[in-house]
Amino acid sequence: MNILISGGTGFIGQELRTLLLKQGHDLVILTRSPEKYKDESAKNQRFVSWDDNLPGLMNDVDAVVNLAGENIFALRWTPEKKERILNSRIKTTRTLVEAMKEAGDKPVAFVSSSGANVYGDRGDEVLDENEPPADDFLADVCIQWEQEAEKATEFGVRVANPRTGVVLEKEGGALEKMLLPFRMGVGGPIGPGTQYMSWIHRTDLCRSIIFAIENEEMQGPYNACAPNPVTMNEFSKTLAATLNRPAIFKVPEFIIETALGEVSKLVIDSVRMQPKKLQVAGFDFQFEELEEALADIV
Ligand code: NDP
Repeated sequence: MNILISGGTGFIGQELRTLLLKQGHDLVILTRSPEKYKDESAKNQRFVSWDDNLPGLMNDVDAVVNLAGENIFALRWTPEKKERILNSRIKTTRTLVEAMKEAGDKPVAFVSSSGANVYGDRGDEVLDENEPPADDFLADVCIQWEQEAEKATEFGVRVANPRTGVVLEKEGGALEKMLLPFRMGVGGPIGPGTQYMSWIHRTDLCRSIIFAIENEEMQGPYNACAPNPVTMNEFSKTLAATLNRPAIFKVPEFIIETALGEVSKLVIDSVRMQPKKLQVAGFDFQFEELEEALADIV
């Protein structure tokens, strides 16, 4: 297959490219800086700019994966940062959808990212894809992002949106930030500790994206998380045990809130998702339990 990936240079995109290249697919990577990736270019992997002739490119593409967007991690969400978080996602998704619309020969599938933050802070409720969205900044970003992608269904492209949980891998993402204190023996739960984390191993997330490209049942938003979410207390205990270190240093909620303001929602909100759509469609997780995932990663 010929697959176009926007934001394919990032944390998730790098692993997705590795898996797809191993399977023999040809890739076109859409990036703001194609010149940076000259050395990685090959016959089966081209880096192109957003200014290229996108409708022309789409003619030869079987599937599109959209991972582009301003990184949401920051010490503070200033009004400017919030604008960049939202606009970067809406603009890139709209550009892709318009290019597909103009193309004579359209891709079959469009997998466009979204986030678990769509559900907001939901305690220990078990959340499948039918749950309504929350009413806060990140939920609003996710909903607008999904709606922009959904427009591709109007001209026959199948759209799937991974509502992605906390993606686990050693280098990059949330785990990298947590590993240092744990390795130094000063790690522990952040915030109340009872909040749920819907985690997923990066390899399983990328396998789910490939599954969504290939599987016609995968339409609309799907929860991209392992079937066994854990509380922050359980996560800390498991990470500490995997590293043979203690997990006794708690970081209280008020410290996180004071230090990070609204950004603290990323670690304090409780999201207990169930990957119902993936399970019903028969997706086979490689890492269902946190112990197995962390043992593989660290
Ligand atoms: P990264 O930040 O690692 O990569 C995203 C890519 O988007 C970058 O490589 C960059 O590519 C491009 N990009 C960055 N800023 C902008 C911008 N302002 N305008 C246009 N393009 C931009 O993200 P991840 O790989 O971690 O995540 C991919 C998607 O999945 C993101 O949209 C993210 O919100 C979502 N997600 C990720 C989660 C995670 O735990 N990692 C959890 C939930 C959702 P280039 O510089 O080549 O243009």
